[in-house]
Amino acid sequence: MKALPVMLHLADARALLVGGGGPAVAKARLLLAAGAEVTVVADAPVAEFYDWAYEGVLTLHRRGFEPDDLAPATLVIAATDDEGENLRVSAAAHGRNIPVNVVDEPGLSSFTLPAIVDRDSVVVAISTSGAAPALARWIRARVERVLPARVHDLARFAERHRGDVRTAFADSPARRRFWDRVFDGPIAEAVLNGDEALAERLFLGALNQPAATGRDAGHVAIVGAGPGDADLLTLRAHRLLQAADVVVHDRLVGPRVLDLARRDARRIDVGKRSGAHPWPQSAINDLLVELARGGARVVRLKGGDPFVFGRGGEELDHLARHGIRAVIVPGITAAMGCVARAGFPLTQRDVATTVTFVSGRAKAGGLDLDWPALAKRRQTLVVYMGVATAAELSAGLIGHGRDPATPVAVIENGTRPDERVCHGRLAELPGLIAANAVTPPALIVIGEVVRLGAATALAVAAE
Ligand code: SAH
Repeated sequence: MKALPVMLHLADARALLVGGGGPAVAKARLLLAAGAEVTVVADAPVAEFYDWAYEGVLTLHRRGFEPDDLAPATLVIAATDDEGENLRVSAAAHGRNIPVNVVDEPGLSSFTLPAIVDRDSVVVAISTSGAAPALARWIRARVERVLPARVHDLARFAERHRGDVRTAFADSPARRRFWDRVFDGPIAEAVLNGDEALAERLFLGALNQPAATGRDAGHVAIVGAGPGDADLLTLRAHRLLQAADVVVHDRLVGPRVLDLARRDARRIDVGKRSGAHPWPQSAINDLLVELARGGARVVRLKGGDPFVFGRGGEELDHLARHGIRAVIVPGITAAMGCVARAGFPLTQRDVATTVTFVSGRAKAGGLDLDWPALAKRRQTLVVYMGVATAAELSAGLIGHGRDPATPVAVIENGTRPDERVCHGRLAELPGLIAANAVTPPALIVIGEVVRLGAATALAVAAE
């Protein structure tokens, strides 16, 4: 270890900041956030410092550094672009044993400032001992991603119950085991999902059965995996995948998304495969109940969003009827993912004021759709599962008055490496699909907005 990490309590302590440019502003923010009484010494401070001084947030002296400035200081940061001045501050501070940091000069500093992930009472500090600040920032971005946004609430929750746990468990190993169970299980999960009432109930239950060493009841998170690109996963989905015992997933979930699951999590593919037997929905429902009853943390991973043509509602209902706790984690639905990549919006002022998601799956007698409503102008239609019924769709819309020349786009494997986008007209939709041999998963977008994307693509091509 090249340096000892410490957390300095600066509330009401005096901090001296020498320098008044952009880097000094950033350091001033940091010191103020930590509650320090900040004095700034700078020849030519930028406007922020005048504003802060005017508001009484800090004290500002418009002049160069004088060694006596150090007298009341608990620590000092030099952030000037004058090497001589930085050197003078460093030497004076070292002479008085006052901790000093000179921005970007680890050799002149007795302490460096780590990159931080700030979640209020929970702070993670990352240091490369001054060797590579950019690497520290890179690590920070990764920690940001795995550290839940509500981890501060979890710290507060634990703080609130510290006394209760101390009373319930006399010996400290038992206490530690209890806390492990809290942080690793449904209680913490409830806090992180923003459901403190549930967390309190579960906590009281756990506290009142201190002898119970058995496993917690399992639970199911019905999680949207997005359209395929693993980068489009939500932070919550990522966190739940990392904590899962079992991942029950569909065929539409991309392999890169599955790679993000905890390495030793069991994976069950319930996706329908041609040739192999598909899992009927009732069997999936029963599987989820059985796994949760066995105490597993189950992630039911679905393509796109669970509540958009995803049967998430049915699974949620089934789990509720069997007394299994379940949460829904939204995902980016195929429509959003596909148009973002294809480069046209779903709505646009004066072009489309409505967007409708519609299922192209046929019932026994063909498509059962509200044709007059769908054929209305200034509306974008996004058709899921519509490849097989494209001919009926196109004829139905035109028959009810939609312009045959309305632009359409067919997006196959949207957001995945093998994505394809084909453009055409509503009247030619079946031909477009046949000519390009489009296979599911593919999304059909119908409306004038599609032309906006084509215009962008042409403009880019012309450059
Ligand atoms: N719950 C999913 C939709 C499931 S229905 C969601 O919110 O996206 C399955 C249909 O979604 C497919 O037939 C296809 O029309 C569409 N779809 C899903 N992923 C897609 C992708 N990556 N590219 C194109 N269409 C996709």
